[in-house]
Amino acid sequence: MSIKVITEKCIGCGLCVKSCPFNAIDMIDKKAVIKDNCTLCGSCVEVCPVDAIVMEKEEANNKINIEDYKGIWVFAEQRAGEILNVSVELIGEGRKIADKRNVELTAVLLGKDLDENAKTLVKYGADNVIAVDNEKLETYTTDAYSKVIADLIKERKPEIMLIGATTIGRDLGPRVSAKVHTGLTADCTRLEIDDEDGKLLQTRPAFGGNLMATIICPNHRPQMSTVRPGVMEKAKYNEDNTGNIEKVEVSFEDGQLKTEVLEVIKSEKEAVALDEAPIIVAGGRGLTDKKGFELLEKLAEKLDGAVGASRAAVDEGWIEHAHQVGQTGTTVRPKLYIAAGISGAIQHLAGMQSSDCIVAINKNPDAPIFKVADYGIVGDLYEVIPELLEALDNVDDIVTALKSVEG
Ligand code: FAD
Ligand code: SF4
Ligand code: SF4
Repeated sequence: MSIKVITEKCIGCGLCVKSCPFNAIDMIDKKAVIKDNCTLCGSCVEVCPVDAIVMEKEEANNKINIEDYKGIWVFAEQRAGEILNVSVELIGEGRKIADKRNVELTAVLLGKDLDENAKTLVKYGADNVIAVDNEKLETYTTDAYSKVIADLIKERKPEIMLIGATTIGRDLGPRVSAKVHTGLTADCTRLEIDDEDGKLLQTRPAFGGNLMATIICPNHRPQMSTVRPGVMEKAKYNEDNTGNIEKVEVSFEDGQLKTEVLEVIKSEKEAVALDEAPIIVAGGRGLTDKKGFELLEKLAEKLDGAVGASRAAVDEGWIEHAHQVGQTGTTVRPKLYIAAGISGAIQHLAGMQSSDCIVAINKNPDAPIFKVADYGIVGDLYEVIPELLEALDNVDDIVTALKSVEG
């Protein structure tokens, strides 16, 4: 979209200046002039009595040739030098898509001192790594990261760009897509390639998770998705994998970046790394009380796992939102997920049903959670869990025992 004033028509009435909520219009020589901070909200177009302001839709179709766009890109998010799990998951998914499209998979890595991480991404299966090493990229900022990635996309034209739907990815994805004039499907849970036309089919929950919507991006490139952490399978590390690592230099002019990171302060609260935990013990409304979580914590501690929760338990104020599993919480994929007093609503299942082994404890034998459970215990959790704790007391080393079961 673009906006312009037809100067010959403008009668200098000034109504548009008053109507603009962003103070984006000046009167110069009795003619309206629109400034750079215009957000294209359209208010001024409505009020102009002589139709002197026009908004025009750019014919994007004429501007890009879809055939020019080749290759799959994955944003390899790192924090404090550690590549996130979701980036490894995206490499796994990107690899499958690249093989199906018969194109190369490229990981885009931004930060500082990237050599080791770049090599690791190759071992996980990236054909290429674009490593942009700059001290201004050490810690994420919206303006620096979105500029660098958008410039790379404009120059090199990938057909698909995948970003993890982390706090950073959810900020970065829309900024980049707006800069390169393409669409973005947020929070995808499935990605496929259409066998007929090679387009990316991007599936995500819609209408409160009650249906799954598959979205395509037919006329613009790249096709961009953010993808929920924990949903896709991780790429396998292989020491024999080889690939190209390209170091790209960038520089920023004075004043180009509006944000500067002065200091990174870690949250005082211990982070709940639910998406990384191999074992999760989760509780729901069936706990009936905040104290129920003390019991779950004992079990989690014994299993060396983390504590999760349904939204109902979070809404009751029994536990913080950081522990919530599900559509509006964290998506998890642990080796073992124990759901106690959780009914198994679709929005909860959306966040945990890919777990390797699900154990459900519920006093209602018809609870939907039993449909996804590998093991179901029908009973009162306040009887079952103490018995479980007692039984575990008799196992010398439960974690080693579980690991041996995993093989
Ligand atoms: P309930 O459905 O009330 O189930 C409690 C269960 O405990 C029952 O099955 C009962 O039989 C059992 N029980 C009771 N007492 C005992 C006992 N003593 N021993 C054993 N079992 C017992 N939910 C999420 O979890 N995560 C989300 O991210 C999420 N996002 C949502 C997003 C949207 C847009 C919407 C509309 C809803 C979302 N929800 C989410 C809410 C979801 O629909 C359910 O309301 C919620 O998951 C129910 O939580 P629950 O299973 O703990 O509670
Ligand atoms: Fe102001 Fe909106 Fe008009 Fe832009 S489109 S000049 S922001 S009123
Ligand atoms: Fe000119 Fe229309 Fe603005 Fe009046 S409202 S100053 S005529 S552009």
